[in-house]
Amino acid sequence: MSKAKYRGRIAPTPTGFLHLGHATTFSIAFKRAKAANGTILFRNEDLDPHRCKPEFIQACIDDLRACGLSWDEGPDIGGAFAPYNQSQKLEWFLEIWQSLKETGLIYPCDKSRKDVQEALTAPHNDDSEAIFPNELRPNNINLNDFSEPGKTNWRFKVPDREIISFVDNHFGKQCYTAGIDFGDFLIWRKDGFPSYELAVVADDHAMQITEVVRGKDLLLSTARQILIYRALGWDIPEFYHCDLILDENGERLAKRNKALSLRELISSGEINKYFQLIPPK
Ligand code: GLU
Repeated sequence: MSKAKYRGRIAPTPTGFLHLGHATTFSIAFKRAKAANGTILFRNEDLDPHRCKPEFIQACIDDLRACGLSWDEGPDIGGAFAPYNQSQKLEWFLEIWQSLKETGLIYPCDKSRKDVQEALTAPHNDDSEAIFPNELRPNNINLNDFSEPGKTNWRFKVPDREIISFVDNHFGKQCYTAGIDFGDFLIWRKDGFPSYELAVVADDHAMQITEVVRGKDLLLSTARQILIYRALGWDIPEFYHCDLILDENGERLAKRNKALSLRELISSGEINKYFQLIPPK
């Protein structure tokens, strides 16, 4: 069987201005698609109406173009897999929630963050998400009683102690143990939106992405996402996770670190020091 033609994506969340770390990851995604003679699309992950702003998506588009990046499909140019704004696809995400519900692998969960903290026996460090304790899973839930998610969170029930492994095209073999490295994770949010894990898998599948390129902070999410692909019987794409850019204190760049926003680096001309993609004038 011939291999599917390479399709990659860049998928920013418009909650602020992009920084050098984003541009570096996106340029790797761009170069990998070009090297494979494939296609790259731009997907606007603007699901959270409280944090995402239209001016930031326009800034993402302008700043990445100023860095010499381009895409074959996207919210600004359309394409065969439109819409490329996640906020316009709630109906589709609901269908995926429905399909997941039919697998019996998700459940409604009314436990608060405080309930989770109280049920935990071991302390967890603040950087990592608390592992959802199994004893808080509900008993005797009839999923047929739910025709819609309603105003409650929904979680994916992870296969306890199973090792989820995959070969990352950059970092090699990765192994995570369900129930130890990560626990039952959010699928649907009580504010009426799909979780990041559901939305990204649904869209990467629907848009026929063959390789997901993103920062290595999402390696653990890949293990979660593999469980969603598996539950839905979908092909799993390849993954390439990138190193993260650190600031002079060794901290990860964050959108709030305005000093290194692409916007500022472009307007000061300093971008050329960091980033070689600016097309010659
Ligand atoms: N939208 C996500 C972010 O900006 C990235 C999602 C992904 O690449 O899977 O962090």
